[in-house]
Amino acid sequence: MIECQDCLWVGEESELIAPTSSDEPGCPNCGGTDFLDVRIAMKWFDMSCAVTVSAYTQVEAETLEDAIEIASERSMELSFTGSGNDSKEVWLVDDIDGEPQNIHGEEKHHD
Ligand SMILES: [Zn+2]
Repeated sequence: MIECQDCLWVGEESELIAPTSSDEPGCPNCGGTDFLDVRIAMKWFDMSCAVTVSAYTQVEAETLEDAIEIASERSMELSFTGSGNDSKEVWLVDDIDGEPQNIHGEEKHHD
């Protein structure tokens, strides 16, 4: 980004305008040709989101209704080698299949 030192217009070098092809490209606002490089301060943000995942569990029950009730009370665990999580005891999350939802965040302040 560059800033015109005459009128303080801020923009990109590609936005400069030359009145004729022989003129030096100048500020599109005032025609000035005295510019200063401007560095826009970047910040870090701590972001969070919700995402849909797929999970599975195995339930032994007399009916599907019973199986659903049992399954609804099981906890969610991540599935990875060596985790020891058993799909006959907990829900196993092993696939992420959604886009980030409900993205929110806050500016990270130096500590
Ligand atoms: Zn200007």
